[in-house]
Amino acid sequence: MQIRPRAIIDHVALRHNLALVRRHAPDSRVWAVVKANGYGHGMVPVGTSLEAADGLAVARVEEGVRLREAGITKPILVMEGFLLDEELAAAREHGLEPVLHQPGQVALLERTRTTRPLRVWIKVDTGMHRLGFDPREVPDLLVRLNADPGIAGSVGLMTHLAQADDPHGRFTQLQCDRLRALDPAAKHDLSIGNSAGILAFPASCTHWVRPGIMLYGASPLHGRTAAELGLRPVMRLETRLIAVRALLRGNRIGYGGTYVCPEDMPVGVAAIGYGDGYPHHAPTGTPVLVGERRAPLVGRVSMDMISIDLRGLPDPAVGDPVTLWGAGLPVDEIAEWACTIPYELLCRVTARVQMEHRLKH
Ligand SMILES: *Cc1c(COP(=O)(O)O)cnc(C)c1O
Repeated sequence: MQIRPRAIIDHVALRHNLALVRRHAPDSRVWAVVKANGYGHGMVPVGTSLEAADGLAVARVEEGVRLREAGITKPILVMEGFLLDEELAAAREHGLEPVLHQPGQVALLERTRTTRPLRVWIKVDTGMHRLGFDPREVPDLLVRLNADPGIAGSVGLMTHLAQADDPHGRFTQLQCDRLRALDPAAKHDLSIGNSAGILAFPASCTHWVRPGIMLYGASPLHGRTAAELGLRPVMRLETRLIAVRALLRGNRIGYGGTYVCPEDMPVGVAAIGYGDGYPHHAPTGTPVLVGERRAPLVGRVSMDMISIDLRGLPDPAVGDPVTLWGAGLPVDEIAEWACTIPYELLCRVTARVQMEHRLKH
């Protein structure tokens, strides 16, 4: 029996979630976002499995190169674009589609003459104020890029939504309007919607959408569970009980002794901790599944272990499977307990966890 925690990746669920994107954005092409190692699910296996996506989106050139080296031939969008000459050269060599968000990138493009034209996207800052050109700069930039023989085809226009997780917010519509206003003659491909946009704002479903978190089965919307949205969890993070202890009333558990047993009680120890990516901030009370039943974590999370209150479980035993998140225990719920977001929990599962890909049921 192995102690090493496993992340079991359900590719049937992954493809189901992509199909749900299609239902919400039937007229859009889909960049499946696989940055950050496929949100912790394995970038290459996920990218390979999402055969039905029109393209893949990553943050950095290096990620795009790895997808190409794995034999993936689909369009690949690089959302942070390039910074260095070498990155631009690699983008050209591998046919990646970089996003231009600051003038230095345009200057670098214009400085390097090439026989290999590149398809590029302009990132427009419609209000998030992270990356992008001011909308007023875009018309001139389009003229400049259209005249550049190093640019293939028509330049795409994209923007990123800052508040689409609030389905009642008005800012998202404003951002969509600002991008559309830059292309009155409909000559360019536009890309707006992330997962939250796709699910809550049809106006963000332009020529291309860019779903990330919903593909992995977590909810991008406040107040809506993944299950309500029809999403299926893709990752199941699991381990086993490596000890079952009979502790006494007054015993303190773990570092700092923060949990005091209120009575004589059985306490299990499961082999997973923050060294595997389970959040150190998960407090006493955070649920886990022992077998199929919920039980609360007690005391602090250690590097390799957590303790679990086993009162109320019929017959807990060493070796019992323990699920930290997955079907039956949404990662969104654990994120809430740990005061973080599901994105962070998923993408910081560490290399110490064994990844197991289930391509079929
Ligand atoms: C990460 C990212 C996405 C995907 O966002 P989700 O909320 O995971 O759907 C889309 N667009 C950009 C620019 C991103 O950085």
